[in-house]
Amino acid sequence: MTENHADLKAKLRGDLILPGDSTYDQARKLYNAMIDKKPRLIARCVDAADVILCVNYARDSNILLAIRGGGHNGPGLGSCDDGLVIDLSRMRGVRVDPATQTVQVGGGCVWGDVDHATHVFGVAVPSGIISTTGVGGLTLGGGIGHLSRAFGLTIDNLLALEMVLADGSFVTISEQQHPDLFWAVRGGGGNFGVVTSFTFRAHPVHTVTAGPMFWAMEDAPEIMERYESFITTAPNEINGFFAFHTVPPIDMFPKDFHLRKVCGVIWCSVADPDRTRQMLRPTEKWPKPLLDGVGPMPMPVLQSLFDGLYPPGYQWYWKADFVDHLSSESIAQHAKFGEAMPTAFCTMHLYPINGAVHKRNAEDTAFSFRRSKWAEVIVGVDPDPANKGTIIRWAKDYWSAVHPYAAPGAYINFMMEEGAARIEATYGINYPRLRRLKKQYDPGNLFRVNQNVVPEGAVKANLSARAQPL
Ligand SMILES: Cc1cc2nc3c(=O)[nH]c(=O)nc-3n(C[C@H](O)[C@H](O)[C@H](O)COP(=O)(O)OP(=O)(O)OC[C@H]3O[C@@H](n4cnc5c(N)ncnc54)[C@H](O)[C@@H]3O)c2cc1C
Repeated sequence: MTENHADLKAKLRGDLILPGDSTYDQARKLYNAMIDKKPRLIARCVDAADVILCVNYARDSNILLAIRGGGHNGPGLGSCDDGLVIDLSRMRGVRVDPATQTVQVGGGCVWGDVDHATHVFGVAVPSGIISTTGVGGLTLGGGIGHLSRAFGLTIDNLLALEMVLADGSFVTISEQQHPDLFWAVRGGGGNFGVVTSFTFRAHPVHTVTAGPMFWAMEDAPEIMERYESFITTAPNEINGFFAFHTVPPIDMFPKDFHLRKVCGVIWCSVADPDRTRQMLRPTEKWPKPLLDGVGPMPMPVLQSLFDGLYPPGYQWYWKADFVDHLSSESIAQHAKFGEAMPTAFCTMHLYPINGAVHKRNAEDTAFSFRRSKWAEVIVGVDPDPANKGTIIRWAKDYWSAVHPYAAPGAYINFMMEEGAARIEATYGINYPRLRRLKKQYDPGNLFRVNQNVVPEGAVKANLSARAQPL
């Protein structure tokens, strides 16, 4: 069939935005300003019917199709050049059922929408560490955040999804319905369809005991060593991710520390302050922190703690790995590159994925790294496009120095576009099964603007998803 977008426009309840429209440039903007894509059409869908129309249209017109949830993806896989973008940002309803402690979430929600809706009921869904990230991309990749050690990855709390498949059919999937697809989407990214709604299990979390502890950079090697011993044996109630940061020049921090490079742990405990202090007692033997900001705070406050520091529109370049152990050699490299962060926004985070994440095995869901201790991410970030080269170089050099001590794969949500071998290494033993399911549900690879799982039997993705090599 030939392309006729006038027909699509007439049938949609939502908007169809084209180049030249006054809203086009705003609508195509991504969170990462390093990525500049120019879609042929942007469909702001309002319901599943709109999504079905768009999927059928892209397939039948043979044009590239991208799915946009929160638009936060590092390499900009929520958009594409010269194709159709299904933009879900108008599908942001959240319905909490307090009786069953379940939450139904629209496919275009960001986590702030969910936190807002759940907090008044005294519950929370495990997500990430920033409230502006999309539920769609974060969940389908796995979902790592403040509540991972207590309750597992976001996918471990996923009960059901409603989804439009490549043939335009609409399915509900869960452990009972289409269990093969339910397995695949828990880590398999946007490879299998457009999710119009997620249903999550929520947990009784209202006020957490949380916040950062920062130490001087010269203490980094000792802190990293002690942090590893602590987090590998700590009760699951407490999470803490290790970080290198530059203290932002804001009132929340003492003036003396403004713009100082530090290492730190950002804690989040679901226990009360007394029990949390008891759990944190071993840290009293660590070097004295420059700043201890741990205290009770509402969960949505913690979730949005970093929002102001990282507004949309900065330059971002991501490098990542899974990590099993912090050897003294890797710690030495971390200390060196942490000290060398080239701008005040650059960072490195080590997110623990032990605790409740280890309750599942590698083959239980498509997310296969169930025995590693951390998802590591090195991010070159800066508002100024002139610093693009500098932050990319730092992130790449840092990654090259620590990668030899890491596990073979990386969390798909922390990667740029790094090629098929890297995706295969990431899915590991699950990759052949994912490829079989991809062949069954999307043999033409309609959903290929993602960390692509190539259908079994196909040699490679049949059309490039990207236009700008970085
Ligand atoms: C500032 C920042 C902080 C972050 N913090 C965390 C964190 O704490 N934990 C963590 O796990 N990750 C984190 N991430 C990474 C994040 O999970 C990924 O960037 C993710 O891809 C973002 O999802 P999105 O929906 O916003 O992205 P988009 O760019 O909209 O989409 C990304 C991919 O997801 C797919 N997708 C999105 N929605 C749907 C849907 N409804 N149906 C089908 N496919 C869909 C798309 O195909 C696309 O390939 C962070 C990212 C940023 C920029």
